[in-house]
Amino acid sequence: MTHNADTELLPRLEEHIRRFEAGRITAFWFPPELETCYLADTVASRGRMLLVQGLIGLLAYDFFLVGDYLLTPAQFVRAVMIRLALFTPLVILTTLLLVRRRSAVLMEFGAACLCIAGAGAILTIHPGVDAGDQIGLIVMLLTANCILRIELPFAAVVSTVMLLMNTVELYSDRLFSVAEKWYAGGTMAWVALLTLVANYTMTRERRYNYLLQLRGRLQRGLLAGINAELLALSSTDRLTGLPNRRAYDERLMELWRIAQERNEPFSAVMVDVDFFKRLNDTHGHTYGDKVLQRVASLLQQALRSEGDFVARFGGEEFVVLLPNSDMEAAVKVAERMRTLVQVAGSPAMQKDSPFIPSDLWTTVSCGVATCLPGGASDPHRLIMDADSALYRAKKEGRNRSCRATDQLTTSKVTLFPAVSRG
Ligand code: GH3
Ligand code: MG
Ligand code: MG
Repeated sequence: MTHNADTELLPRLEEHIRRFEAGRITAFWFPPELETCYLADTVASRGRMLLVQGLIGLLAYDFFLVGDYLLTPAQFVRAVMIRLALFTPLVILTTLLLVRRRSAVLMEFGAACLCIAGAGAILTIHPGVDAGDQIGLIVMLLTANCILRIELPFAAVVSTVMLLMNTVELYSDRLFSVAEKWYAGGTMAWVALLTLVANYTMTRERRYNYLLQLRGRLQRGLLAGINAELLALSSTDRLTGLPNRRAYDERLMELWRIAQERNEPFSAVMVDVDFFKRLNDTHGHTYGDKVLQRVASLLQQALRSEGDFVARFGGEEFVVLLPNSDMEAAVKVAERMRTLVQVAGSPAMQKDSPFIPSDLWTTVSCGVATCLPGGASDPHRLIMDADSALYRAKKEGRNRSCRATDQLTTSKVTLFPAVSRG
């Protein structure tokens, strides 16, 4: 079930639980949508239950061979044939087949048919002592309605058929007096009614428990979804949609640990928009926000490996984490980002005029640092190194990438001249 479907189902479920709790008899029947869920969710456990209880019922059924022998010893072979050779394999095979099919309706239907077949078989065992079969029919009725607890409509059909069978038997019986027949018939009718009431009560309970379980499951699912959304919100920067500082802190430690375990180089790039304060002051904060959104999107596009990570560090500063990347690879990424921003980082390009004044060009400076995690190295030191490199890039004129190494190497863009706005 999807998150949305759960949200839609929950109020209907609550409503139905209220109807159950108000004691409404009709609450027993679920609306179609709930009924489908109920059947699908319970079919496996119902199958297992029917299998176990069916086998216990069968044991009792076959145990009546003792009664058969006592009642009509001459017909004992016939009883053995009917109970052991015919009905027993029929029950085992049909039950296994039904449980495998995993169709709830078919399972209930099959169980009902087996109960009727079992009752029919009982009637053929003792010819001439028809009224005596009533005990067998009562046991079958108890088994169907209270042990197997077949669903109410099927239980009603089984009860009616057995009552009819009993009536026919009593009618053709020659041992009972009329009064005894009325007594036996009345008893059977009451047993049918009482077992049906028991069936209703137990099935109602089973359905009510299911509703409570389903409500718990849906609520837990919704809560997990809301938690996931909250977590995503709390780790995302609202303006740029990038992971925020909090998410960055977590990812830094995680990637650092992985790099340590794998003994792989780990790089970080600090990216800062050049002259952003002046751009804000001259063209307004709204334009500044657009620049930040655009830069964020371009930085993301510049990343190629799956594990690479970019976050908004704060203000107009971004941080990029590059697992399994040495200095050369990290500088390449930094340069790719810087070039992309220089070419496409100015939102004004989207407006009518393709020409934009040079003071609107967006550029970034990058500081790159690399280390092999382990020993005395620590992730915050790496970020400080990248920050120092960024500071140098600013000092050297901006719109460039600097490495945090002893040999001072600066990469400069060649597509456009570096912008000087000092
Ligand atoms: P430098 O080239 O040395 O980096 O100079 P700079 O002007 O970019 O750096 P400075 O630190 O002096 O100014 C950063 C400015 O970024 C100041 C602040 O108003 C602005 N800023 C920070 N966050 C946001 C934001 O979310 N939206 C906008 N529009 N501006 C922001
Ligand atoms: Mg800046
Ligand atoms: Mg800054």
